[in-house]
Amino acid sequence: MPLSIESKPIVSVAVPVPLRRTFDYQFETEIEPGSRVIVPFRNRQLVGMVIPTLPDKSITKHKNIIHVLDDQPFIPPTILKFYIWSANYYHYPIGEVIHTALPPNVRMAIKLSNPETPEHFIQNPKFPEADVLSTLVRARKQQLLYSSLSDGKCLRLDEIEKLPQISEIRNVRSGMQSLKKKGLVLQIHRPPTEIRPCEILLNREQSETLSKIKANQLGFHTHLIHGITGSGKTEIYIHTIHDCLKRGRQVLVLVPEISLTKQLVDRFINRFGDRVHCYHSGISKSERYRTWWKAGNGTAGVILGTRSAVFMPILNLAKIIVDEEHDLSFKQMDGFRYHARDLAIKRASLEEIPIILGSATPSMESMHNAHSGKYHLSILRKRAGKANLPKIEFIDLRLQPPHYGLSRQMISAIDKQLENSQQTILYINRRGYAPIVECSHCKWQANCDRCDAYMTYHKTNDRLNCHHCGNTSSTPEFCPQCRSPLFLRGSGTQRIEESLERLFPDASILRFDRDKIRSFRQLQKTLDFINKGQVDIIVGTRMISKGHDFHGVTLVGIINPDQGLYSIDFRAPEQLFQDLMQVSGRSGRGKDPGRVYIQTYHPENQYMQMVCGQDYDSFFASCRDERKAADVPPFSSFALWRIESRKQEEGFRLLQNIKHHGDRLRASMNFKSVQIMDPVLSPIIRIDDWHRFQLLVNATIRTELHQILNPWITWVENLPTSPKLRWSLDIDPMEMY
Ligand code: ADP
Ligand code: ZN
Ligand code: ZN
Repeated sequence: MPLSIESKPIVSVAVPVPLRRTFDYQFETEIEPGSRVIVPFRNRQLVGMVIPTLPDKSITKHKNIIHVLDDQPFIPPTILKFYIWSANYYHYPIGEVIHTALPPNVRMAIKLSNPETPEHFIQNPKFPEADVLSTLVRARKQQLLYSSLSDGKCLRLDEIEKLPQISEIRNVRSGMQSLKKKGLVLQIHRPPTEIRPCEILLNREQSETLSKIKANQLGFHTHLIHGITGSGKTEIYIHTIHDCLKRGRQVLVLVPEISLTKQLVDRFINRFGDRVHCYHSGISKSERYRTWWKAGNGTAGVILGTRSAVFMPILNLAKIIVDEEHDLSFKQMDGFRYHARDLAIKRASLEEIPIILGSATPSMESMHNAHSGKYHLSILRKRAGKANLPKIEFIDLRLQPPHYGLSRQMISAIDKQLENSQQTILYINRRGYAPIVECSHCKWQANCDRCDAYMTYHKTNDRLNCHHCGNTSSTPEFCPQCRSPLFLRGSGTQRIEESLERLFPDASILRFDRDKIRSFRQLQKTLDFINKGQVDIIVGTRMISKGHDFHGVTLVGIINPDQGLYSIDFRAPEQLFQDLMQVSGRSGRGKDPGRVYIQTYHPENQYMQMVCGQDYDSFFASCRDERKAADVPPFSSFALWRIESRKQEEGFRLLQNIKHHGDRLRASMNFKSVQIMDPVLSPIIRIDDWHRFQLLVNATIRTELHQILNPWITWVENLPTSPKLRWSLDIDPMEMY
């Protein structure tokens, strides 16, 4: 008797729960891996995905799958393999990995359909136009609509609605439907637009780079293009994409969130027309789903996306491009902490295709791989076209102390810019008005009551704001301890904006930070505004420094870069160098030469000197030597345990236990390359009333790191859980807070 139950096929399903395992279910028929299913889980129903792992033979009783959502696998085998690899590498639950990878619509328990309905109207060629028009003499509106499609035009409803001759017609949709019912117009898919030839002739450095890419385009290769800002990297991407499209293949282009602007998208659309599709959080869910679909069926030629686009199935993928590969936004900082650049490289190797990484300031990791021969390296040393690199100079703050953040020399430089009607960017990576509110007498400081951090004063709403937990409070008028007056220490974007308004009352000044620009649309509008020359001075945070191609900006002023010199994080010099080179790169991209002024108390600092000389090679060499001496990435691999607890002692005790267990594993496995540090308080000790600790694991042999983490994390997973304790493991952490 039990045989009949046993003979039902059993499949492993990944469900979105924080457990690093799959669950087995049975169903009437076989289900192919990559299909979505609805399964009972505890007292809920969840959408899971069938995974090609062998079911656990020791279990004989299985629950039934409630429903199979996809008739055909939604995720093809190579991509599923890629997800599983990612889950293993990051030691993260496969169900959660898949949940992160899928677009929002697909996570839900709905059957999916092709989002592509034919939506372009044409005249039915069966009937001569003149005859049709004469039959429509009594229906003037329909006549107008019909003739809007003269000369073989093929238009969408919204395109028809925008035509000037249609402007008086109210209900275009129903008019078109009537014409369709009469068979006078047809609805079709529009054939893709022609690919425009690449008009720009590449210069010598660019052509050499392109030939190198072409010489190595069979199989897996990683190309690193180190090209200064404005050296024409994007133009090289466009040329390679062109080649791929001509062969009917597809290309995935990953860019940082902030640089996926209309300007960049238009540059691609200009060449490749409607083959270009975007995938990022700034577009609607249905548009994202449409891109996903068209990538999967091969019709999206170019997919321009941010981080999570790396997970998209793409039918005829020929190449992956990662622009600004050094950018921190490729690393997800919570939940599934993956690095999209690293995953893109893995994906290229699984799919046996080339990948191109581009940057003006390549990450230490990538450049190290290029030097050691793992990557092909191409270098672009000159700006393309007519522009030159800006000249960088220091303003020594020891000689001219700043007044509300601005030195005398900076002010007069801005003044000159205004006189010559040229645009200026002032860069300060701190939003708000002042980062510290302090008592003039007893030194009391306004701290967040939930975090170990100062509250930042925001003048726009006259409140104190915690930038770590979002807590806000009213601003006390006097010191709560001694009733003395308070003063505001340091400057953020708002204070610099205010100083400028006072100094240059006639100038148009714009603040560019997260408080001011809250949506993708606003970002777009603001960038347009700047590019149209309607702003004289822009005061911005890191948001302003990346990717944007402003043609009118000829002065960049860097207000306060010195913070970056005091940080204990071993990546701080790299971050500082990248930030300063990137923001400097916004100057002088148009026809006029650019300048950069850096205000600093440490002009003699070696890294500052390298920034000034725009000397990436020296920077790389000295940074590499330091890291080699200290045995840190890229000369070793890091994993970071993080613990957060409501009660301080509990978190610390847990982390000590984790450390001890790690020590035992290390001894028993005899892994000499693995170093387990001592548990320490995180640099910010408490955020949102969670006490924070961390434990660093450093290994010179990466496989040993992964091998020790497997049993280690299983042990931690099996510890009793408590809502007052949380833990996470970050593989290749990019920040150590
Ligand atoms: P990057 O991506 O390295 O910042 P871009 O490709 O955006 O550089 O090029 C910077 C500017 O130079 C753009 O305005 C681009 O159109 C122009 N440009 C690029 N290559 C050439 C070339 N070979 N000849 C003339 N102009 C070029
Ligand atoms: Zn006081
Ligand atoms: Zn706080």
